[in-house]
Amino acid sequence: MQVIDWLRRAAEQYPERIALEELETGAGRTYGELDARAGRLGWIFKEHFKLPPGARVGILSHNRAAHIELVFACARASLVAVPLNWRLSTSELLAIVEDFEPSVLIYENDFAVVAACLVQQTRCLPIALDEPKGYDTMTSTAAGTLSSIVSRSSDDVWMLLYTSGTTGQPKGVMQTFGMVFVNAMNTFVSGNVAPGDVHLNVLPFFHTAGLNLYTLPVLMCGGRVIIARRFDPVATMKRLSRDVVSMFGVPAIYLAILNHPDFAAATFPRLRNLSVGGAPIPASIAEAFARKGVVVTPGYGMTEAGPMIFTADLNTATRKPTCVGKPVGSALVRIVDRDGRELTGVAKGELQIGGPVLTPGYWRRPQASQAAIQNGWLSTGDVAMRDESGDIFIIDRLKDMYISGGENVYPAEIESFLYTLPNIAEAAVIGVPDKRWGEVGLALVVPKKDIEVSAEQVRSACRMHLARYKAPQYVRLVDALPRTPSGKVEKHKLLKQFTAIGE
Ligand code: ATP
Ligand code: MG
Repeated sequence: MQVIDWLRRAAEQYPERIALEELETGAGRTYGELDARAGRLGWIFKEHFKLPPGARVGILSHNRAAHIELVFACARASLVAVPLNWRLSTSELLAIVEDFEPSVLIYENDFAVVAACLVQQTRCLPIALDEPKGYDTMTSTAAGTLSSIVSRSSDDVWMLLYTSGTTGQPKGVMQTFGMVFVNAMNTFVSGNVAPGDVHLNVLPFFHTAGLNLYTLPVLMCGGRVIIARRFDPVATMKRLSRDVVSMFGVPAIYLAILNHPDFAAATFPRLRNLSVGGAPIPASIAEAFARKGVVVTPGYGMTEAGPMIFTADLNTATRKPTCVGKPVGSALVRIVDRDGRELTGVAKGELQIGGPVLTPGYWRRPQASQAAIQNGWLSTGDVAMRDESGDIFIIDRLKDMYISGGENVYPAEIESFLYTLPNIAEAAVIGVPDKRWGEVGLALVVPKKDIEVSAEQVRSACRMHLARYKAPQYVRLVDALPRTPSGKVEKHKLLKQFTAIGE
């Protein structure tokens, strides 16, 4: 039984139940419709367009119901679905499309111009989602259907999902049927999803957190996924106040919500699982929601593994608000020193992940795959700390750490402090070269709207509360921070821009 077979079963058991609902339009799919449309689309791909098994299908679209049905249709027809990051420039997208070589590119009207360019360069078949009498008519009137995928094995690749590109060029991660299934089981084991849940998804489907973390598991257990076309703090809060019991967001999403004037009056009567992860988590998020009686549970995962690797239970999250807890289900984890030796007990070092939650590797990048995964262990590039109870804290990326006067400095810790200052909406810290100390900190700070704050005030608050080597030498006020679509600060861009500041 693969994930798609569970959809089959759901369609037999409760065909009329709503599976997908678009937040903005209210349109969607029942389980019966989703299953039938995925089957007919699969048939069209296989029998009409004669796409061979393993051919790639690019999807360039905002979040919508059709996006999910296409991912399922690919499974039915033994094709590889590749949801694309529409926020990339045409040349960035072209590099990705040339990497995976699509046979078909399915695109939304908003991206018609970009799609035309990609199609011309790669000579793939274009299918427009919004053309009158196009995609929809084709899907509802197909002459046949593919209702079963029993031939797909756990090792077959279902999707390619590209990493966020936080540290550089996004890498295409092969998502096998087995890996996606195991992840769904781990999501169930975490207890964050219960049968029939109403889940709100505000993250893009082209990232693993949007698709694998909750969307697919919720559909496997008969829940309803409310699909936000794009994240909007007001629409999100409104829906969270109604019937939603579960949502996952990256820290940037929660910061946008709690910095919004509507947050003060908002109530969340049904919320049971509000989880956060994907980037360092400022403690201020948990504090703001705790005042509303909601516990925010931190989690950790990545495109290459899981993404359900860690999620704190409510008890742990209440007592240790930035702790991601213990590994979930079949995720294996260990902490290693610089030489790759495992550290036991209370320890701090690089986090490695193993077990059936792992990808077999990056698409057509055997060397990069081998460098990342050795002897069944994936080096995450993240620093983790284990406390005396065996609970894990994610400290920061190894790459983002800098050394000031011989001391390791983790920017995430300083950022978390900056978020406690009442006049700061967003903050990022990087290490810049310094003749005396080797490196020193530079804090880029976005002040809250209509609030006066000076760089000197921020600098002296840091000096007062942080160890001397941690307090940033420089503070710059900026209007916004460069972020990936998954809300992560693009530090490599900041480094490029500001590295000469100390000279
Ligand atoms: P790229 O690999 O292209 O540079 P990326 O690593 O941001 O981008 P993803 O796979 O989307 O791509 O994100 C996984 C990374 O997100 C992890 O390796 C980690 O650095 C970060 N992350 C996830 N959860 C947390 C968390 N709870 N705290 C801190 N960082 C986290
Ligand atoms: Mg990464």
